[in-house]
Amino acid sequence: MIDVTLESVSKRFARAGDTAAVDDVDITIAAGEFFTLLGPSGCGKTTTLRMVAGFYFPTSGRIRFGAEDVTRRPPNKRDTGMVFQNYALFPHMSVAQNVAYGLKIRKVGRADARRRVEEALGQVHLAGYGGRRIDQLSGGQQQRVALARALVIRPRTLLLDEPLSNLDAKLREETRTEIRRIQKESGTTAIYVTHDQAEAMAMSDRIAVMESGRVQQIGAPREIYHRPATAFVARFIGRSNVLSLPVTGGTDDSVTVGLPDGGETVVAAPVGHGLRAGETALVSVRPEHIGLTSTTEPGALPGRVTELEFTGMATNLIVDVAGESVQVAAIDVPAGLAVGDQVGLRLTRERMWVVRP
Ligand code: ATP
Repeated sequence: MIDVTLESVSKRFARAGDTAAVDDVDITIAAGEFFTLLGPSGCGKTTTLRMVAGFYFPTSGRIRFGAEDVTRRPPNKRDTGMVFQNYALFPHMSVAQNVAYGLKIRKVGRADARRRVEEALGQVHLAGYGGRRIDQLSGGQQQRVALARALVIRPRTLLLDEPLSNLDAKLREETRTEIRRIQKESGTTAIYVTHDQAEAMAMSDRIAVMESGRVQQIGAPREIYHRPATAFVARFIGRSNVLSLPVTGGTDDSVTVGLPDGGETVVAAPVGHGLRAGETALVSVRPEHIGLTSTTEPGALPGRVTELEFTGMATNLIVDVAGESVQVAAIDVPAGLAVGDQVGLRLTRERMWVVRP
């Protein structure tokens, strides 16, 4: 078990011009932690992981495993286990031969290797599958072989790059629970790359949300969900409305904002937000924290339904409030509610939160 530190790490590719694929990233991952790099395509998460693995060297900055500086060390000298999206298994070898591969390279004795392969297959719930051919396994089983192959060398860090994207939805959910269990049982520090926010939330101890090569926020799933730092994070994690509202006052950890109906409300804000009366605050409020009510209820924001979609668990609506489109997810909607109807919106004030642009 070892902690992993990235200090002001940047990566520029020669042919990509001036823009940095990874731009001044600082991350400290605790020993034994399941840490996820999350963000849209092209945000730099794979490049970051590849620098930890040693496939790319940073243009500037340092990477440490514990106290050791590994910034310019080649991949085979880092003790990392890698799991890729496409499994990268050897199709002509048996399951056991695939898992044993890293041990052979490390010149581990035959008896010891056999024992460790069995142990690794047991960890991923594939005991007894050693003699099978790779093409006799399902996609989910192949990914578990890839995981066993990474774990068998007892790596100091386990690096996983979108390992579930080739699996269908149901298998993906089962396998993510498995990966999480295996990581916790082995105690290996894990860094996981995904663009799937639900996957990141379900698996991770902490998440770094990245955009355009930069880290926007690092935090536990609940923290990122309930206290997004920026408008980007609020919209990328789940769904969110980010309302621009005029500031009329505030304290160190709250602001008072004006609402479209002329009323005012107090909204929680990060300590030291620095917003002053006369400025505009960006306020995040999630669709499930807005209730539907009648236009006559005191304090309700009046609006008109412009879209309505029944999904089974909830009904998703878009409501036009004074020219601003507000997303609402309601468990119960009045029977017969239709596009064009006037409704009142009740904002759950204690769930509203001020974000940075
Ligand atoms: P995806 O989910 O699509 O894999 P990502 O978040 O992992 O995206 P990266 O693959 O890290 O993003 O890419 C970040 C940026 O760096 C992109 O603009 C990409 O085009 C660029 N990039 C990545 N690898 C190289 C390379 N070898 N040479 C030049 N540019 C690169």
